[in-house]
Amino acid sequence: MKLDSKAMRHLTSEDWRVLTAVEIGSKNHEVVPTPLIESIAKLRGGPSRTRKSISALAKVGLIARLKEARYDGYRLTYGGMDYLALHTHASQGRVYSVGDRVGVGKESDITVVADDQGQQKVLKIHRLGRVSFRTVKANRDYLRRRQGGSWMYLSRLAAEREYAFMCALREEGFLVPEPIAQNRHTVLMEYVDAFPLRQISQVPDPAALYAELIAAILRLAQHGLIHGDFNEFNILIKEEEEEIREEEAKEPGSNHNNGEKAPATTTVTKVTPVIIDFPQMVSMDHANAEMYFDRDVACVKRFFERRFHFVSTTAGPFFRDAKKSVGKDGARRLDAAVEASGFSKRALKDLEAAIFEQQGSRGEGAEGDGDDDEDEEDDDEDEEEEGEEDDDESGEGEAEAEEKEGREMKQTTAEY
Ligand code: ADP
Ligand code: MG
Repeated sequence: MKLDSKAMRHLTSEDWRVLTAVEIGSKNHEVVPTPLIESIAKLRGGPSRTRKSISALAKVGLIARLKEARYDGYRLTYGGMDYLALHTHASQGRVYSVGDRVGVGKESDITVVADDQGQQKVLKIHRLGRVSFRTVKANRDYLRRRQGGSWMYLSRLAAEREYAFMCALREEGFLVPEPIAQNRHTVLMEYVDAFPLRQISQVPDPAALYAELIAAILRLAQHGLIHGDFNEFNILIKEEEEEIREEEAKEPGSNHNNGEKAPATTTVTKVTPVIIDFPQMVSMDHANAEMYFDRDVACVKRFFERRFHFVSTTAGPFFRDAKKSVGKDGARRLDAAVEASGFSKRALKDLEAAIFEQQGSRGEGAEGDGDDDEDEEDDDEDEEEEGEEDDDESGEGEAEAEEKEGREMKQTTAEY
C-alpha cells in the first residue's frame, strides 16, 4: 500500500489528538473502544467533538471500524500509523515533502522524501506482519492472548532492529545508507542514487565486484552477523565515472608529471556496492546460521554465474572458516551489541517468525519482482466506512490548557 500524504494537511489538531489516542489505545486493544478513545484524547469539546474527529479520520482511512467487533470501537490502519510517523519526522524537521514510491516489497514501501533544503532521503515503511495479521484476525482468541502477533508491533520491531543494525554497521565503516532516524514502523535514511544489482546488465570487472561482495559477507561474519537476504535486490550498485591519468592506470602509484603537457586521462567506471535491507539479519550463533550463511553465498554465486557468466575458481567461502573468524582482529560483535540494546528474546522470536512467514509467502527469489498491489487494502476488507456525523462543536479551549494536554499526550506517546 502506498504512503498517501494528501489528507494530512486537512487534519485539525483535534483530529491528530484522536488519532494519537487510537494509537495509544491500540497498545492494549485490537479494537479501541470509542469511550476509551474519548478518555485518552480528552478533547475540550467532549465526546461529541471526539466523534467528529473519529468520523473525519475514518473517512480518510486512518482508522477503521471492524464490523464484527463486539463493541463499538476502532483500530489504527497502516495509513494511520504512516501519518503518525510522517508527522513525527516532519515535526522534527527531517521531512518536508513526500515524493514517489521507489520500491515495493512484501515487507516494505520505499518512498523518496525531501527535507526543507530539498535534500532527498528515503523513508522505508515496514509492512511486516500483514500476512500474520490476516491469519491472526481469523483467530481472535490467539490475539487476545498475545498482542505480540499484531502487525503494528512487528512492523515497529522490524524498523527498530533495521535502524540499530544500520547504525552499528555504519559505525564500523560498512557501505550502507546513512541511517537518519527511526519512528514507529519507519526508518529514514540516506537516498542512494543507484540501481539494484538486479538491474545491472554488465560491470567492468565482475571478478572484482564478486570478490568485494564475498569480502562483505566475510566481514559481516567477523562481526558476528549474517545478512540473511543477500540477494541482487538488496545490493545497490553505485556507478561513478572517474577520470584517471593514463600513466596511473598503467602504473598505479606513479604520480609524477614531468612533461609540459596536461597528462592524458582516461575514464573508468568505478563500481561500489551499497548493502541494504537489514531487519532479518541473524547472528553467527543462530541455530540455523550455517544455512543462512551458505544461502547468502550461494545467492551471490548464482547471480554472478547467470548474469555475468562468472564462476569463481575458489570454492567457498565456508561457514566453518567464517565461524572461526568471529571477533578476530578486534572486530566488535555487532550481533551482541544490537541484541543487547533492548530487544527481548521473545520479541526477536516473534519477528523472526513473521519474517520467515512473509519470506515464505513471497517465494524464493521473488522479492520485488511482483507487484503486490493486489494485496492493497486487504486488511480493510471487513471494515465499514464510518458514517456518523456530529457537528456539535463546543468549548474550543484556551491555548494554555491545550498546550498542557499536548505535553501529556506527547509523554504518553513517547512511553509507547
Ligand atoms: P524490502 O525489505 O521490502 O525488500 P528494501 O530495503 O530491500 O526493502 O528496499 C526495496 C527497494 O527499494 C530496493 O531494492 C531499492 O531499489 C530501493 N531502496 C531501498 N533503500 C534505498 C535507499 N536508501 N536508496 C535508494 N533506493 C533504496
Ligand atoms: Mg529487499
